[in-house]
Amino acid sequence: MQAKTTMDHADLIPDLPLEVRVHGRGGQGGVTCAKLIAGLFSQLGLHVQTFGDYGSERAGAPVQAYARIDRAPIRNANKVYRPGHLLVLDEALLGPHILEGVEPGALLLLNTPQPLAHFAGRFDRYRFAVLDATAIAREHGIGSASVVIINTTILGAYARILGLPLKVLDEAYAHLGLASDLPAAEAAFATVEIAEPRETAPAAPTPHAAPPPVMPILQHRADTPASLKTGNWSSQIPAYVESPAPCNHACPAGNDVVGFVQALAKGDSAKAAALLFETQPLPSVCGRVCPAPCMNACNRAAFDGAVNIRSLERLVGDSATATPTREDVLHPQHIAVVGGGPAGLSAAYQLARAGHLATIYEAGPQLGGVLATGIPAFRLPPEMLQRDLERILALGIKARLSTPIRKADLATLTKDHDGVVVAVGFGASKSLGIAGENLGNVEQGLAFLARVKEMPEILSGTVIVVGGGNTAIDCARTALRCGADKVKLVYRRAKKDMPAIAEEIAEAEREGVMVMAHRQPIAIHERGALADVVLAEMEAGPADASGRRRPVVTARTATLTASKILLALGQGNEHDLLPAGWSLRGARAYHGEQALPVYFAGDCAEGEGTVTHAIGSGRKAAAAILTRTHAVVLAKDVALPVAPGQIRFDAFPVAAPHADRLIHPAAFAGDFSETNLGLADAAEASRCFSCGHCTLCDTCLISCPEGVIAQRGGHYRVDPEYCKGCGMCVAECPRAGIEMQEKRV
Ligand SMILES: Cc1cc2nc3c(=O)[nH]c(=O)nc-3n(C[C@H](O)[C@H](O)[C@H](O)COP(=O)(O)OP(=O)(O)OC[C@H]3O[C@@H](n4cnc5c(N)ncnc54)[C@H](O)[C@@H]3O)c2cc1C
Ligand code: SF4
Ligand code: SF4
Ligand code: SF4
Repeated sequence: MQAKTTMDHADLIPDLPLEVRVHGRGGQGGVTCAKLIAGLFSQLGLHVQTFGDYGSERAGAPVQAYARIDRAPIRNANKVYRPGHLLVLDEALLGPHILEGVEPGALLLLNTPQPLAHFAGRFDRYRFAVLDATAIAREHGIGSASVVIINTTILGAYARILGLPLKVLDEAYAHLGLASDLPAAEAAFATVEIAEPRETAPAAPTPHAAPPPVMPILQHRADTPASLKTGNWSSQIPAYVESPAPCNHACPAGNDVVGFVQALAKGDSAKAAALLFETQPLPSVCGRVCPAPCMNACNRAAFDGAVNIRSLERLVGDSATATPTREDVLHPQHIAVVGGGPAGLSAAYQLARAGHLATIYEAGPQLGGVLATGIPAFRLPPEMLQRDLERILALGIKARLSTPIRKADLATLTKDHDGVVVAVGFGASKSLGIAGENLGNVEQGLAFLARVKEMPEILSGTVIVVGGGNTAIDCARTALRCGADKVKLVYRRAKKDMPAIAEEIAEAEREGVMVMAHRQPIAIHERGALADVVLAEMEAGPADASGRRRPVVTARTATLTASKILLALGQGNEHDLLPAGWSLRGARAYHGEQALPVYFAGDCAEGEGTVTHAIGSGRKAAAAILTRTHAVVLAKDVALPVAPGQIRFDAFPVAAPHADRLIHPAAFAGDFSETNLGLADAAEASRCFSCGHCTLCDTCLISCPEGVIAQRGGHYRVDPEYCKGCGMCVAECPRAGIEMQEKRV
């Protein structure tokens, strides 16, 4: 039979993860004892963590130390509040707090000269063990005559209780350079007395009372009042504050990103969904198609890669089973919403959640706006949109489809309702204004996309797409799936200037779309069933109003022959819905000088051209309509977010982002299935720093040199009588969850 190796003995350790708490006195070696325990388990091939918990204690003051053991890397840096193993190095420490958080059945190992019988009836519910480690260590000359160091001795008893053979201890001590202490450990191994718990029936766990109160600095044996009060010379004191995380600040929809990602990190997907539903009616949609400005702003980008927020949002949207709830209001208002795209849906959603009655008037036969008619199925499967829509409509929103609203209708709707939100999207598609643009094989990209969504069509030969935005990229990738042999995307500026989502451009190129930057069609000629497109090379000219250098046509040209030309040059946001005498000031409509309860939202108001902007704009319109304010400014729009420099990167292990699972179809023709499968699980959430949002990690508490911070009921309290205002806690906080504030006298 093969001999067991040290690593194999890890199998003997039950119930991992294991948390160990050591209580000792300054000078007894309690902190080293916890380190030795960690060293022992580390020898067994397990992950360990250990640290002491003490401030400026002198010899003899009570000290705690902790060890964590697990098979997986340990991320939790809190103090140990619920130890599975409790080692008490001094019997006199057996005060009322010592068993706090220790559940029946846990191990309690006590250094005492008393035999087990002496404690009869006191610790029956625990696995209780005693040994006289002080006598053994003294006998073996460990420490000095006055200060006996017992840590290496007590570990011998601990190994015996764990069922580890002496050989393991032998190897560990040799590895740790403690071979000379082994005889004492062996004596402890041989003499420790162990009693198994008497009560085996499950008993109610000892309530996890609040951690011990903050102990005064000079406290030794009893909790006597300390004499070292701060006095009035300290001028500042730490305060636990919540600061805006940059992801929250950057999300145009207003999502509480740090909130939902942290909820996911804690495994609470129901809370994550509830938080998202506050602002986000279309999580499955945005989780797929959002350009994710939150990720551009993420502080983790400056460390090892932004948190993959978009795909975490998708995960929540796709898996949430709960539905958003509706408030009860005594006198609900009745609001008309014109347009059933993301902006109109968001406005109706927020109005309904607030308990009001919303009716959507939609010109088309379905809800969703561009989501239903423009964005292709391989990026946004219709069933995903449908799921979000069903959740929205479940709030009791009415939808009147195929009901276009015209000028006269808008005035009537305004009279018949308490308010109106107009969210009709962009206006007409722009054209090139060149010869040949009206030929049969030239088509607006939006019309092409909408038609293919209804019924895929067959293309062949070369397709030229003109434009650099999302519509252009979607046209190009759709043309490939309709069977085009080649797809060339012509853009008048540099590739880096293309407004389309960067990942989508990369995907299109990966699929074979050729991007021709610095080119613009200047004429199109008929060539039988085909068309010749004359492309001019472009040069950067003088800067325009936006500060960008305007591309100018050069005399250098080339001609490409194409079977189809798709135009994706953008759309205007001019709208002709305003009745005579009406005007817009900001997003609100006026009749002469009279402010009307009519607000514009989404692309037709802001022209930002993203789904998340449309959602945020719809929410603000709903808030404005209920408060009759001119425009809604949210607190998060003004407060400064936590900067990367405020995050202690060194406190976090480097971990590359979990990437989306991308599928590269072998053949595109006819295949409109989704190409990005997102994340397999929510593990990515644990990469979030939780910028500006305390996670109760205890780092501040542990690092306070005065020991004047205590955690109670999920809150920290700094004892103002003893805090010296040194700011160590603030400097050590990994995530800017605490700041120094002036002390008010
Ligand atoms: C092809 C394409 C791809 C895109 N890809 C992305 C992307 O990947 N990510 C992203 O964030 N954004 C993308 N966008 C932009 C995004 O879709 C829009 O910014 C967003 O849909 C705007 O929402 P909205 O509600 O303001 O308008 P729309 O989505 O345009 O909805 C307006 C609705 O109003 C209805 N309507 C219009 N006039 C009337 C009327 N008179 N009466 C009643 N109803 C009316 C329309 O039928 C429509 O349903 C893309 C746009 C296109 C065209
Ligand atoms: S909607 Fe977009 S910006 Fe907002 S959290 Fe989701 S992915 Fe980020
Ligand atoms: S690390 Fe987390 S909290 Fe910080 S910006 Fe990124 S997602 Fe937001
Ligand atoms: S150190 Fe940890 S517990 Fe303290 S404020 Fe920061 S996040 Fe919160």
